[in-house]
Amino acid sequence: MYNAKAYSASSATSPLASTTIARRDPTESDVQIEILFCGICHSDLHQVRNEWSAMPTAYPCVPGHEIVGRVTKVGSAVTKFKPGDLAGVGCLVDSDRTCPECQAGLEQFCNNMVLTYNFPDKHLGGMTYGGYSDSIVVDERFVLHIPSNLSLAAAAPLLCAGITTYSPMRHWGVTKGKKVGIVGLGGLGHMGVKFAHALGAHTVVFTTSASKKDDALRLGADEVVLSRDANEMNKHAGSFDFILDAVAAPHDLNAYFNLLSRDGNLTMVGAPDEPLPVAIMALIFKRRSFSGSLIGGLAETQEMLDFCGQHNIASDVEVIPIQKVNEAYERLVKSDVKYRFSIDMASLKAE
Ligand code: NAP
Ligand code: ZN
Repeated sequence: MYNAKAYSASSATSPLASTTIARRDPTESDVQIEILFCGICHSDLHQVRNEWSAMPTAYPCVPGHEIVGRVTKVGSAVTKFKPGDLAGVGCLVDSDRTCPECQAGLEQFCNNMVLTYNFPDKHLGGMTYGGYSDSIVVDERFVLHIPSNLSLAAAAPLLCAGITTYSPMRHWGVTKGKKVGIVGLGGLGHMGVKFAHALGAHTVVFTTSASKKDDALRLGADEVVLSRDANEMNKHAGSFDFILDAVAAPHDLNAYFNLLSRDGNLTMVGAPDEPLPVAIMALIFKRRSFSGSLIGGLAETQEMLDFCGQHNIASDVEVIPIQKVNEAYERLVKSDVKYRFSIDMASLKAE
């Protein structure tokens, strides 16, 4: 066991603050990583503020699941990594590896998965601690290779925002000739736009922020719709093959069901805690479907990273020192982020 520097929250209402946490010494299959950058996902904020009734937060909570860094040590049985390699860790740090979900490469649906933070830690007891830290130790199966041509600060958000938008697009067949909507131009949404565009789809952004219109077009959108303008919305009635909703707060889903074509699908990745009303008739007519999606499995995450390396895709980031993390959370609540905060973990040395 050794000590690592970190930022943690001690309650749902306290700001994140500097702390010291225990990390395990690498076992034979483990990789020890010096964390260089960690993205700030809205899920970090939901969890820190205990906003999910299905996943109560244990305190102290060290969030962070968009981790990139450099390998500092590997266990004797590790074959995929050596010291000095770039490495990434997302939302998953373990699973049972034997169930049908794991066998299918869908570790995110394993009943025995272990999330990167706020999950029981089999090694040290207590809870797992995430990436707002200078170091982490993870089994090599859950460590990803980062393409060397990407900026590390901009690659970090791929580990959650990237895979969470890429996976449902692959699942629902987003490709050239399809019309695809992205709802909410935040951390997830802006990655969704980049992927939909790179996959060749006609891409439409739905935003509540008129000020993000130009950015949406620059990021790869073909059209931008102000979602609070009913006239603009109606122009697209019945025309979408697929809509990805990445909004973190309660909002009207039915307005979007009406925009789907026959057999169109709306997939929700945004995770507000409150139940949202669904007008069933909008689904019955035209056989539309409504579904959810959770991050992605390990193999698909590596596929997404390789795709990003080939197409030179990464997140648009605002790099901040860890000392600005509480300010960043306040801005996230106001949808004031362009388009992901990425924490430069070198700033933790000052603590
Ligand atoms: P984010 O950066 O805060 O982006 C959310 C965007 O939603 C905002 O930028 C805003 O876009 C829009 N929005 C916010 N409030 C709204 C409202 N009241 N009505 C309509 N639109 C609103 O958040 P994120 O990090 O992308 O995460 C988004 C959600 O996905 C969170 O709930 C997070 O927990 C969840 N998530 C899920 C998974 C998964 O596996 N399913 C993985 C990661 C995150 P505009 O300004 O363009 O309107
Ligand atoms: Zn996330």
